Amino acid sequence: MKIGTKAIHAGVQPDPTTGAIMTPIYQTSTYVQAAPGVHKGYEYSRTSNPTRKALEDSLAALENGTYGLCFGSGLAAIDCVLKTLKPGDEVVSGNDIYGGTYRLFTKVFAHFGIKFRFVNMQNLDEVKANMNENTKLLWVETPTNPMLQVIDIEAVTNLVKGSGIKVCVDNTFATPILQRPLDLGADLVMHSATKFLGGHSDVVMGALVTTDDELAEKLYFIQNSSGAVCGPMDSFLVLRGIKTLHVRIKAHCENGEKVAHFLKSHPKVASVRWPGFTDHPNHQIALKQMDGFGGMVTFTLKDDTVEAAHKVLSNTHLFSLAESLGGVESLIGHPASMTHAAIPREERLKVGLMDSTIRLSVGIEDADDLIEDLNKAFAHL
Ligand SMILES: *Cc1c(COP(=O)(O)O)cnc(C)c1O
Repeated sequence: MKIGTKAIHAGVQPDPTTGAIMTPIYQTSTYVQAAPGVHKGYEYSRTSNPTRKALEDSLAALENGTYGLCFGSGLAAIDCVLKTLKPGDEVVSGNDIYGGTYRLFTKVFAHFGIKFRFVNMQNLDEVKANMNENTKLLWVETPTNPMLQVIDIEAVTNLVKGSGIKVCVDNTFATPILQRPLDLGADLVMHSATKFLGGHSDVVMGALVTTDDELAEKLYFIQNSSGAVCGPMDSFLVLRGIKTLHVRIKAHCENGEKVAHFLKSHPKVASVRWPGFTDHPNHQIALKQMDGFGGMVTFTLKDDTVEAAHKVLSNTHLFSLAESLGGVESLIGHPASMTHAAIPREERLKVGLMDSTIRLSVGIEDADDLIEDLNKAFAHL
């Protein structure tokens, strides 16, 4: 089955009791048992809930995985992955990652004796040089947030083949429509479903997908033991979002391309990062592992100051100034003072995240209007 068909049909069946074509919102905490231990597969909604289960199955199918798990946020999903580790274990992570992931690693799990090494994952030698007998997990985010580096998933997984070291890919930016990490050798895929999967800026949720039986058992155990699950209403919303995922992503990609080209030709703009440009440092990898280049575009102004960035941010009208990304509406953000404020300036500059760097989540409005909006904002510089 092709992915557009899966987006609509995978994991969901008409409701067995009524025939309802849409999975009902099973807003219930518990399930009546016919006799002690005799039940219909559901005992308590932290452990399992039919609406959440339909979503978990749908996501597993989209990622070509076998097991799906959904959580109350993307960070709760990452938290579950980290809890498979123990004190003394080490994680090698990319150095251009979501600010909240960096905070969870360095400010929470580091205190429990897990060691994190942040490396430039575009350089495989650097990844190798930071692995040792304590390494248990490689954390790969690609494309990265906000610099849109593209990490070669197949090459990274080849480094650890047969070693028992797990590779988890944060697939939030690409979604399974553009990139399927399990097919490229990753053990685990993580999503902030808050973003493109939900797609309508109305829910916070996270997800994991794997094909690894043993890993799945551990993750389900932690999901149920720690209890950071999502509710049935939110599960319904993301199930609904997924039904148009392939159509939305196509529109995000088309608009992203138009906006990226406009920015590239603008005299006030110093540089533009978008994986579809042939001069993007990882363009060849993007061509190899992705089915499109997405609607995330990052650019830096010639006047590289926070003030100049703020001028642009406060003068767009269709691009709303907000954290988050991946919704149908366009958003504009300033990583250095917003999403990535938790990352020290020296670390930011190392990955090219400058004081004036602006990140766009290009929505699915008419591209001409989006370009006009940016053009007018640039006139204030
Ligand atoms: C938003 C985001 C997260 C965190 O997800 P939440 O749903 O906000 O907890 C993790 N990774 C990436 C790439 C994100 O964009």
